[in-house]
Amino acid sequence: MNDLALSNLAHEDRTFDPPGDLAARANVSAEVYAEADADPEAFWGRQAERLDWGTPFTRVLDWSKAPFAKWFVGGRLNAAYNCVDRHVENGLGDKVALHFVGEPGDTRAITYSQLKDEVSQAANALIDLGVKAGDRVAIYLPMIPEAVIAMLACARLGAPHTVVFGGFSADALSSRILDCDAKVVITADGGYRRGKASALKPAVDEALQACPGVVSVLVVRRTGEDVAWTGGRDVWWHDVVTSASTTHVPQLFDSEHPLYVMYTSGTTGAPKGILHTTGGYLVQAAYTFWATFDHKPDSDVYWCTADVGWVTGHSYIVYGPLAEGATQVLYEGTPDTPHKGRWWEIIAEYGVTLFYTAPTAIRTCMKWGEQIPAEHDLSSLRVLGSVGESINPEAYVWYRENIGGGKTPIVDTWWQTETGAHMITPLPGVTSGKPGSAMTAFPGISVEVVDDAGEPVGNGEGGYLVITEPWPSMLRTIWGDDERYKETYWSRWPDYYFAGDGAKKDDDGAIWLLGRVDDVMNVSGHRLSTTEIESALVSHPSVAEAAVVGAADDTTGQAVVAFVILRESAKDVEDVSADLRAHVAKEIGPIAKPRQVMVVPELPKTRSGKIMRRLLRDVAENREVGDATTLADSSVMALITAGIVDAKNDED
Ligand code: ATP
Ligand code: MG
Repeated sequence: MNDLALSNLAHEDRTFDPPGDLAARANVSAEVYAEADADPEAFWGRQAERLDWGTPFTRVLDWSKAPFAKWFVGGRLNAAYNCVDRHVENGLGDKVALHFVGEPGDTRAITYSQLKDEVSQAANALIDLGVKAGDRVAIYLPMIPEAVIAMLACARLGAPHTVVFGGFSADALSSRILDCDAKVVITADGGYRRGKASALKPAVDEALQACPGVVSVLVVRRTGEDVAWTGGRDVWWHDVVTSASTTHVPQLFDSEHPLYVMYTSGTTGAPKGILHTTGGYLVQAAYTFWATFDHKPDSDVYWCTADVGWVTGHSYIVYGPLAEGATQVLYEGTPDTPHKGRWWEIIAEYGVTLFYTAPTAIRTCMKWGEQIPAEHDLSSLRVLGSVGESINPEAYVWYRENIGGGKTPIVDTWWQTETGAHMITPLPGVTSGKPGSAMTAFPGISVEVVDDAGEPVGNGEGGYLVITEPWPSMLRTIWGDDERYKETYWSRWPDYYFAGDGAKKDDDGAIWLLGRVDDVMNVSGHRLSTTEIESALVSHPSVAEAAVVGAADDTTGQAVVAFVILRESAKDVEDVSADLRAHVAKEIGPIAKPRQVMVVPELPKTRSGKIMRRLLRDVAENREVGDATTLADSSVMALITAGIVDAKNDED
């Protein structure tokens, strides 16, 4: 992997220093890296003091049964108590925890003391439904406060939750319920999406035909639409939760008690059920939230646009921010309903200071044009975050200029469902950011870029990204499958966690993510990274989004096939394909020049916004399309295939 195309990384040479006032008041200073390096275990032991432990831990890490870790051994705590009750006890009961904004325009502010009452009520209702510590509960809800409340109620009872994204089908839901053997499902009649009520309960009814182990379904009324009802199984939230007692005494659980199972996005294959436990996870989620976003509890208003149905929603809507006593916005709907300025309107209205979203959303906003955010006052923003994929330099600079007013640091956070929390990221008051780079390992985290033999590569070289030491919020296993856990993450090099991503160190040692190792293309013996070629394509004025894959080729082994979405302004450009091929050749080199460029109306993405390149590879190689169950919009593949048939006909 050493000859991954690297030249394109020089594309954006600027670095952006932290603003002076932010750096002067930053939560974390540069010294923290050295302090953490000197003794990472002691460092994490100190960070664990952010939490309230009912019983203190006696040892930070037990790695004697590697790769099965125990963090904060002997410690006992309650995650929900740490996220809610303790803030009320500390006098912050009247502080707003959630500013909920429904898509139709309804709003609700929920204080920490109201949250405590509702979480307690939900916990009491779940007890009445027979939920005990250790039982699994599936949550299938829209982005409404009850999603947060339900997760915290489960955590309070020590009943691991598995949240399934509300856009998933009945099949995706039933396979997750079966895999973790959930006893109760919490859902809603529906939610609002793109200006309409979108039903959820029918998918639950269908899914449960295959899930005899589910004894109760707790249903939130959100849209008021009619729902089918199974007597003896289904109960309304407003009947059993609202009438339950607001008093519930949280029990303590072992630091290693399971907190939740979250299925990965399924970008590279069938989703894996990732198990996170309580103490280590909560410590790293809380500390990284505070450090990466420079969170100031007295003045910041935070907003993460992720859905609670994926790990970002777990760590950076629920557990991290609430453990830190943050005030945040929770928005139900899509960015373009009822108009394309909805997000920016919300930021202006609530004075959002810290904003966290995904590159795919930023590129969509770029496509819509900068005049839309320009109509809103975004001057409250002081830190912007990005997660989910590499943020290409073009999008980074656009985000900083048009959303951040040319002044906000951007934290490009690399992490995974498996890592539970940030692992590689700039720190806003410390790091001079380079557009497109995730920069450096978080304090107390050890990563390396290695070659096939597991040897670290030098600066200026590429290889495989590994994590070389255990970390507090690491996955503990794949649910019910310890062997698959060892095989997937710990077998390539016995002592390293293999993330599955390619990366490069630049001349200064900063880390650039290059995309999935599985997606690396091999053209005439040269290994090319998806991220770089996609970045080159997006740097062309005609292109809004791009995905590249390697397709079998008689002469070169593999050839680069590019799928691009054009910007509104480029719809009439003639022979865009020839232009783009020449552009990539110029930016990276002739070897990276795509064999074909397909103009498509959409790209296949997971609901978390990641491009599913394996499906495009199937299309490029004329195969039947593989497992598409985690695709956000199932009609996309048909659109793309139809578009390609047209393109092929044109070429003839
Ligand atoms: P699956 O493991 O099922 O294929 P997935 O890997 O997409 O799905 P997630 O855990 O949601 O599921 O995503 C983690 C991956 O997302 C990382 O391994 C990396 O490829 C990508 N990623 C996340 N953040 C960044 C980032 N800041 N820069 C580059 N890549 C990122
Ligand atoms: Mg993955």
